[in-house]
Amino acid sequence: MKLPLRGGCQCGAVRYEISENPLTLYCCHCTTCQQQSSSAFGLSMLVPRDGFKYLKGAVAAFEIPTESKSKKLGYFCGDCGTRIANDTAGRPALSLKAGTLDDRAKLKPVGHIWVKSAQDWMIFHEDALIYEGPPDDGYFALMQRYADQEYAS
Ligand SMILES: [Zn+2]
Ligand SMILES: [Zn+2]
Repeated sequence: MKLPLRGGCQCGAVRYEISENPLTLYCCHCTTCQQQSSSAFGLSMLVPRDGFKYLKGAVAAFEIPTESKSKKLGYFCGDCGTRIANDTAGRPALSLKAGTLDDRAKLKPVGHIWVKSAQDWMIFHEDALIYEGPPDDGYFALMQRYADQEYAS
């Protein structure tokens, strides 16, 4: 995908821009993502924090309850409620809700995490990286696969 990437919320009040290559794109089937997205899974794009900026709009935040000690914030449009991203303190990348990108036609996730709580009608592509729970390799394979898919020349 060609930089910069742009996206925003459903009502248009919040707009953002991505100026650095995303690190990976995957589906998360954890129950928190199901509830947050009010759907079957979350579509997450890891984006370097330094390469992400808001172009307009007052984004609101709430603290997501987690069992870990790191503070995790969810950012959303204060007007329409569209979730834009999750941000865990201490991590170099934001977890962008990729469905907010303007160009969604070429979004191709390379893997699935937390498949133990996936809906039982889900069918996974045979090439996809599959994790029963959270990635046990620090997202390394998911990032490697995404780089191969998107940036290999
Ligand atoms: Zn909005
Ligand atoms: Zn999740």
